[in-house]
Amino acid sequence: PRKQLIIVTPTYNRAMQAYFLNRLSQVLRLVPPPVLWIVVEMSKESIETSKILRKTGVMYRHLVCMKNSTNVKDRGVHQRNTALEHIEHHKLDGIVYFADDDNVYALALFESLREISRFGTWPVAMLAPSKNKAILEGPVCNGSQVIGWHTNEKSKKLRRFHVDMSGFAFNSTILWNPKRWHRPTSDSIRQLDTVKEGFQETTFIEQIVEDESQMEPIPYQCLRIMNWHLHLEGRNFVYPRGWHLQKNLVTV
Ligand code: UDP
Repeated sequence: PRKQLIIVTPTYNRAMQAYFLNRLSQVLRLVPPPVLWIVVEMSKESIETSKILRKTGVMYRHLVCMKNSTNVKDRGVHQRNTALEHIEHHKLDGIVYFADDDNVYALALFESLREISRFGTWPVAMLAPSKNKAILEGPVCNGSQVIGWHTNEKSKKLRRFHVDMSGFAFNSTILWNPKRWHRPTSDSIRQLDTVKEGFQETTFIEQIVEDESQMEPIPYQCLRIMNWHLHLEGRNFVYPRGWHLQKNLVTV
């Protein structure tokens, strides 16, 4: 039987939300089942998100994060933690992947996730707006070995693993059956870190693997780029006078 994919997406209402969620759902719909899409919102289930999810044709769970967060930057982190709690509590079995709604994903990425046994990682392409060029973040590979990291120089010395939130996936049993992975049961996995921005990924990954030898680069050699983190979010949309949109634009 095919491995289940557990795709975790934090989301919130804004003008481009419908476009983002529809785009992601249309890729997920092309992935052979079983695929479970866990979509998490803050405070309450919005009508907008519910409507979109109902018509995707993808198996989904719509969760709500009840944690109060004053810091916008921490919201997505709390929402992903709600999904992790859910996976652990219900002992969901599959490969967990944090897929933000605004990134661009190739179908091949989701197909490759099924090759992962413990922890898989791959390079993610990003647009560096200030530099007007594309950069990579993620593993440098030699065959099936991770031998180094593409990184952006800003944080080179500090982070242990240079992986984007959308550049890794792992076996969900690590969360609820750590013994199977030769981890002591007392050493339960803490959730994503909310304190230091930019350190969430590495802090989490350091709990899941000891070092690079336990990582599986996918696909072989990491030769293809399968997702883009574009930061295309329009934070300061300019609307014609009187046309200001509070909610997402309806897309069909
Ligand atoms: N997000 C969210 N609530 C927020 C801010 C972000 O649910 O208040 C989600 C967003 O929809 C996306 C993910 O968190 O799926 C990453 O957010 P963002 O795009 O702002 O981060 P960036 O891509 O800049 O790292």
